[in-house]
Amino acid sequence: MKSVIVVGAGIWGSSLALRLAETGWQVTLVEQHTPGHVRQASAGETRLLRSAHGTDEWYARLSRTARQGWLDLGERIGEPLYHEHGTVWFAREEHGWERASAGVLGSLGIPHELLDPADGRRFFPDFAPDGLAFLLWEPEAGVLRARRATQVIARLAVQAGVRLVTGRAVPYGEAISVAGEVLRADRVVWAGGAWLPALFPELPLVVTKQDTLHFDVAWRGTPAWVDYDVSAYGHGDVDGVGMKCTSDAEGLPYEPEEGSRTVDPESVAAASAYLGRRFPALAGSRVLFSQVCQYALTPDAEWIIHETAPGVWVLGGDSGHGFKHAPALAGYVAGLLDGEYAPEPRFGLHERTPARGLRTSGFTDG
Ligand SMILES: Cc1cc2nc3c(=O)[nH]c(=O)nc-3n(C[C@H](O)[C@H](O)[C@H](O)COP(=O)(O)OP(=O)(O)OC[C@H]3O[C@@H](n4cnc5c(N)ncnc54)[C@H](O)[C@@H]3O)c2cc1C
Repeated sequence: MKSVIVVGAGIWGSSLALRLAETGWQVTLVEQHTPGHVRQASAGETRLLRSAHGTDEWYARLSRTARQGWLDLGERIGEPLYHEHGTVWFAREEHGWERASAGVLGSLGIPHELLDPADGRRFFPDFAPDGLAFLLWEPEAGVLRARRATQVIARLAVQAGVRLVTGRAVPYGEAISVAGEVLRADRVVWAGGAWLPALFPELPLVVTKQDTLHFDVAWRGTPAWVDYDVSAYGHGDVDGVGMKCTSDAEGLPYEPEEGSRTVDPESVAAASAYLGRRFPALAGSRVLFSQVCQYALTPDAEWIIHETAPGVWVLGGDSGHGFKHAPALAGYVAGLLDGEYAPEPRFGLHERTPARGLRTSGFTDG
């Protein structure tokens, strides 16, 4: 029987462990805390699922495949992990990122519509279309219950026969060491999120602090929304977490284990101001709760999926847009581990040209 060790029980590691266990691998999953612990990138209450990725087709296709994966998982456990409320993109330019996205969605047959800015009032109880050229409506997009999903998938993995080991792994040649015990397998996958740079300093990764704000607003069933050019995004209430309104612009460098778990007052002020401008009825809404998370950013927001030594893979650099893809990404990585194909060159350790088009952040301060 083929054997694999996966380090990291975030959404990437747990989804991969589940996939491999269900396709005949003997799987050990190593996690230093518990699956779904709050320092994980995967432990935000919610994450958006969208297919629009600017000019990029690869991620648009992967996201589309993942959407079905999330729907299937929800059916399997008898509890939805994904709320398909749609996503409205607020396009500020006629021929910017959203227009390019619409072109790719059209060529892939993914449902979408281009709407007048005033149509925003169809989706939200109050909406100010100021500064917008058009809206891109993606009906088959929405909100994932991220932390819940991460915990559920880790549990399904264990039920499928995965051995969950609690401890901090360090590389030991082509094996790993956990609390002095050496574990070996045919393949090792390091899916350690923001902890990877400490283990593999050669990776082109920067970890940044990301503050997330949820406001005390009970707009249930309203779509997710993204104002790409100013890096603002959010969604209506899901599971009582209130209205999310936050920024995708990268924060300051951050250490995931020891970094502050308190959001900055500037983040609160910026999100409040945006909320009041775009949805005037929500001016002055108070923060219901906040979370601190982190991005593991590559320069071009392309992930790292790289075999660093024979049988040893690094799976990281999610760049703040990896959650939605997890069920489909697990299938892609399983094919790599089986040697069915080579990884796309885009995921390698080559010199990367800075770009943000894969993220929901067109903001640039330079
Ligand atoms: C604020 C914010 C908003 C986001 N919004 C979206 C969104 O809307 N849509 C979207 O698709 N994505 C989004 N993302 C990105 C998404 O959350 C991440 O891509 C995804 O969660 C990454 O999962 P992961 O498994 O790689 O990392 P993590 O969830 O961080 O998991 C890594 C795990 O590895 C463990 N680990 C690390 N090193 C070791 C070790 N040596 N030994 C044992 N265990 C170890 C850690 O404890 C951790 O549990 C967002 C991220 C943030 C921070």
